[in-house]
Amino acid sequence: MRLLSLTLVLCMCAGFCAELTAQAPEYETTRIADGVYQFRYRTHNAFFVIAGDGVVAVDPISVEAASRYVQEIRRVAPGAKLHAVVYSHDHADHATGANVLRRELGPDAPIIAHVAAHAKIAAASNPDLPPPTLTFSDRLALHFGGRVIELHYLGKSHSDNMIVVLLPAERIAFAVDFVSNDRVGFRDLPDYYFPDLFDALARLEQLPFDRIVFGHGPPGDKRAVVRQRRYYADLREAVEQAVRRGLSEDQAAREVRLPQYESWGGYGDWFPLNVRAMYRWLASQR
Ligand SMILES: [Zn+2]
Repeated sequence: MRLLSLTLVLCMCAGFCAELTAQAPEYETTRIADGVYQFRYRTHNAFFVIAGDGVVAVDPISVEAASRYVQEIRRVAPGAKLHAVVYSHDHADHATGANVLRRELGPDAPIIAHVAAHAKIAAASNPDLPPPTLTFSDRLALHFGGRVIELHYLGKSHSDNMIVVLLPAERIAFAVDFVSNDRVGFRDLPDYYFPDLFDALARLEQLPFDRIVFGHGPPGDKRAVVRQRRYYADLREAVEQAVRRGLSEDQAAREVRLPQYESWGGYGDWFPLNVRAMYRWLASQR
């Protein structure tokens, strides 16, 4: 008998679409290393680190996700208190829900984000997305329970306030939205900054890590970051050629192809939109 596999395509605002089979659980926690975990809720990934008697939790994702996040932290580290919440960036589909983590695990824990995230989050005035209580501009090192957790700002990339989490001793990183494991960019690259994104990817490549957890999709290694940087470089070159040939944006979206990336997530739906975004940026430079 032939079994049909029902596939749900879930699209999240400002995140990536991903295909989840109907059999996939709504959420799951994956151990990356001793005390280091990826928490996935639907198509979004968070990242948490057990440090001594507590936990540093990056990206609560949503109010619903955060209550599952609390359960999972309690399951793998019973009694852990919240040292800090960290926002990778200001976008609501990753940053919402910190109050749930604080209420359940540590009401006094700071919420840490890049300084440029503060004004945007405060302006949104969303009670489920409290503004950061501690901000930094370039780099911040957190020391909890013998662990060092570094937060690095690599410049504008996807949003102007994206930070990367680095565990230098464990050589593990966590990066969201501006890079992932063999996926094209989200739709027409909303809130992406060019040419800054190229520099941010090059700087990410220089950080000392071997494994990297992403805000969407499966974890990878340094080579995934190299492939993502090459993808944007190839996209830029292909669209530059289209601009030089005098193609319109519509023509470029129809004609530009990068077959070597056809197997990547999102290629079918989003690649033409990536072309449009690159075209608009290049046209604005002329
Ligand atoms: Zn985002």
